[in-house]
Amino acid sequence: MHCSNHTHCAGTALEHAEQVCLARGARLTPIRKAVLSEIWSGHEATKAYDLISRLSTADNLIKPPTIYRALEFLLAHGLIHRIESLNAFIGCDHPEIAHQAVLMICDTCGTINEQSSEALNQLVAQMSDQQHFKITRQSIELHGTCRRCQPG
Ligand SMILES: [Zn+2]
Ligand SMILES: [Zn+2]
Ligand SMILES: [Zn+2]
Repeated sequence: MHCSNHTHCAGTALEHAEQVCLARGARLTPIRKAVLSEIWSGHEATKAYDLISRLSTADNLIKPPTIYRALEFLLAHGLIHRIESLNAFIGCDHPEIAHQAVLMICDTCGTINEQSSEALNQLVAQMSDQQHFKITRQSIELHGTCRRCQPG
């Protein structure tokens, strides 16, 4: 997604995340918040090792398990989505509604556009039912070129 004012966009997402956590009695601790805000630094995928290096300072090296625990929390509360094909993460701006994300990943600029479709979910459920397949995790990721990166 390309937004016109990312400072506003990320700020709103973080405020939103705090409200969701508050409503659920979940604690958005400083490290969890720092990880989320780093992920929200853009609409591109963020990898765990990027977080480790970006959040560490000379006198405070953040250990990988700290980052992984924070990521687990954020995933559990739907504040971020895991991008399986890139082994990376992206912020979600509507964590209060349970949904299955369809991620459109631009391979040129790296921007990720999240959409979701109830019709598509029903089709997937129907298809797996017919095959007596029990879904434990659904991940729909589309790679391609976003509107901005298409010529003409
Ligand atoms: Zn934005
Ligand atoms: Zn989402
Ligand atoms: Zn693009």
